[in-house]
Amino acid sequence: MDQKQNAQKPSLKRIAVIAGDGIGQEVIPQALNAVRATGANVEFSEFDWGADRFLRDRTTVPPDGFAMLGRDFDAILAGAFGDPRVKTNIHAKEILLGMRFKMDLYANVRPVRLLDAALCPLKGVEPKDVDFVVIRENTEGVYTDAGGVFKQGTPDEIATQEDINTRKGVERIIRYAFEYCERHTKLDGSPRHRVLMCDKSNAMTHAGGLWQRVFKEVATDFPQIETQHMYVDALCLQMVRDPRGFDVVVTNNMFGDIITDLAAALQGGLGMAASGNIHPGKTSMFEPVHGSAPPIAGKNIANPFGAILTSAMMLAHLGMTAEADKIEAAVLEAVRHQRTTQDIGGALGTREAGEWISKKINAR
Ligand code: ATP
Repeated sequence: MDQKQNAQKPSLKRIAVIAGDGIGQEVIPQALNAVRATGANVEFSEFDWGADRFLRDRTTVPPDGFAMLGRDFDAILAGAFGDPRVKTNIHAKEILLGMRFKMDLYANVRPVRLLDAALCPLKGVEPKDVDFVVIRENTEGVYTDAGGVFKQGTPDEIATQEDINTRKGVERIIRYAFEYCERHTKLDGSPRHRVLMCDKSNAMTHAGGLWQRVFKEVATDFPQIETQHMYVDALCLQMVRDPRGFDVVVTNNMFGDIITDLAAALQGGLGMAASGNIHPGKTSMFEPVHGSAPPIAGKNIANPFGAILTSAMMLAHLGMTAEADKIEAAVLEAVRHQRTTQDIGGALGTREAGEWISKKINAR
């Protein structure tokens, strides 16, 4: 191999894999097979964190677990966490929210792309009409679980849930959104050009005021990027009425959680949606948007494409764009030829849909 080739070949990337619970156990193996089929220079280490392990020895995350992930791995590929046998859901909270919060993965990046018109429940909407990204703040807001209950179980009970918004947290997520807009193109190669901030600053005036001020300030550093603002209720209406205008959307933790489920419906449902939990320069975590889906777990019917597209997102993040493109092209072809699971109109099982993708990548 000459020096030039050597320089181009990405170094070995170490990936921690935590398939987790429910359909996570079914879709993640398909994502791993897709990555292997691309020939990407990666090494997987699998961890058994999840409900089974918790029920066995009460471990949610082993001591030093998060530090180990950050120290020893280039990225994490996670499945889903949640199991009806663990009523408190404590393991899911400690593993998933633990990774997001303790590893400070502050940017939850959720691309919303329609691969084929047939997958969209809206009339007359083409793939070129749905190609936006939601950047959700991932470490603050109401998910910090600050608050409390007073006089519980009495008629005078009081429950408070605090919405935490720090200047640092708001500024870094808004800046991330502008930088993302600057650096990323749409699927058709055209540049991204607009950042929309979504809030509810008319009702939630204190937190909303901070977001509004910071958005205006940060925007001055990016004069070439258009800005737009929408209240979250208006945004939901618009997303269903006409999703064409969306480009980069930045919002807080809770609104991001909600609008990305709505957005997932535009691209064929939860089974198609990918996401990354990112802190630039640190070990980041990639997971499909869907959860463990207990009603369909263990039946070989879960759609593996959200997880497979998530693995492509991870490869692209690690600089393996050619390998990521191979996976995306294979998923696109599967959708076009209806080599898919039932939720998006096909007749294949989870394994069979995954195998189709791996074979397609191998054949390229
Ligand atoms: P959790 O508590 O882990 O979030 P959940 O069941 O509440 O799990 P999801 O797992 O996100 O939430 O899924 C909600 C429903 O969406 C599922 O019950 C299932 O019907 C559908 N769904 C989610 N993911 C998929 C998938 N990959 N393939 C097919 N259907 C899916």
